[in-house]
Amino acid sequence: MNSFSTANERPVEPRLAVRYQELLRRHPPPSDLPYTEECAIALAADAAHWKASDLHIEPGVEETRIRMRVDGQLHDVAVVPNISGHHLVTYFKVFAKMDTANLAHAEHGHGRLNANGMMLDLRVTVVPTPNGEVLGIRLLDGLHPVLRLDEIGLAESDQCHLRNWLAEIQGMLLVCGPAGSGKTTTLYALLRELQRLPRSIVTLEDPVECNLEGITQIEVNERRGLTFPEAIRAMLRIDPDFLLVGEIRDPESAHVAITAAGSGQALLSTIHARDAVGAVTALRNYGVKNWEISAALEICIAQRLVRRLCTRCRVLAETTEAEQAWLAVSGAVAPASLWKPVGCDSCAGTGFDGRIGIFEVWRLTTEARTLIMHGADEPALKHQAVASGTRLLMVDAIDKAASGLTALSELRSLYWQRATPSPAT
Ligand SMILES: [Zn+2]
Repeated sequence: MNSFSTANERPVEPRLAVRYQELLRRHPPPSDLPYTEECAIALAADAAHWKASDLHIEPGVEETRIRMRVDGQLHDVAVVPNISGHHLVTYFKVFAKMDTANLAHAEHGHGRLNANGMMLDLRVTVVPTPNGEVLGIRLLDGLHPVLRLDEIGLAESDQCHLRNWLAEIQGMLLVCGPAGSGKTTTLYALLRELQRLPRSIVTLEDPVECNLEGITQIEVNERRGLTFPEAIRAMLRIDPDFLLVGEIRDPESAHVAITAAGSGQALLSTIHARDAVGAVTALRNYGVKNWEISAALEICIAQRLVRRLCTRCRVLAETTEAEQAWLAVSGAVAPASLWKPVGCDSCAGTGFDGRIGIFEVWRLTTEARTLIMHGADEPALKHQAVASGTRLLMVDAIDKAASGLTALSELRSLYWQRATPSPAT
């Protein structure tokens, strides 16, 4: 396999770009323009095959690295001379109807590409650098498949809490986590549950990421003056049973949302917070009063994404001393053995196949509401959450590693509530 790997650099994984590598083998670089279209389509088809979210073309001093983001991880899939990389960048700029003469400014474009019969929706961004233009392509198709509640990695007891809340229709449900932690996937899974109920549902998104039958979806358009807070007020006048707001991201939307949730509407949204009780702090930081939070907040779901082990090649190995020590610090009992990633052809040598959510579902009790009313801090709220049966993120993560769904090494990439040494890989 022709991988053009260079010494002292990041390793290249040619198996993620089999079609493109095959073209390079037939027409070694520098390839000229007639081959560029074939190369571009091969790369896009490779990216779609592995369900990559992004494709990057990054020129260096002499060589251009081609990289793909698969399951949240960036992999280098080929290294080519800069001239070949430049041809690819120019091809994608023309494809996305961008100005090929403009080399000085960042630009965005969009287009649909027929890659070997697959229609791909591509959002293209180009940014000038001293070595040439860096191109980023976001593959929009399949980014947010609408999964069921039982497909995202939630424990059965947590699914049960959520279904009960959906049946009761009141208050506010918040999904918390950093960007890229799968919050939108969880909201859509909840919407899918709601589709089955005879309820009116209105969503307010920026942008609408997936079209759902039987649900009114409204896209925020700040340029036309339809801001989040204004759109929420307009939605309330439609009087839906359920209101989904893409994100609470400023004091105004927090106030309007909490008012809606406190006055009988059920509201689902996301908020930037580290863990479930962190949602209370985030709302307080937006100026929401303790009594308002106590009255409206029903459930907080904190989540992260980790890579799922490839079941075709994972191996069971004895738990190492370093792993035992790491688990002990986390307060968990180390199993005698743990599954490890290996890598095979069906996972392009990564050892992983897709991703799975790690969850913490906190259903607020009367005690929790009293604590919030009296201004309790996060440690006090977390203590109460655990006492009332909430499984913390770390507990869910370790359970998933112990059962072979993910590897302990994946837990290193998660941002935990306290400093813990990394498990050895
Ligand atoms: Zn595998």
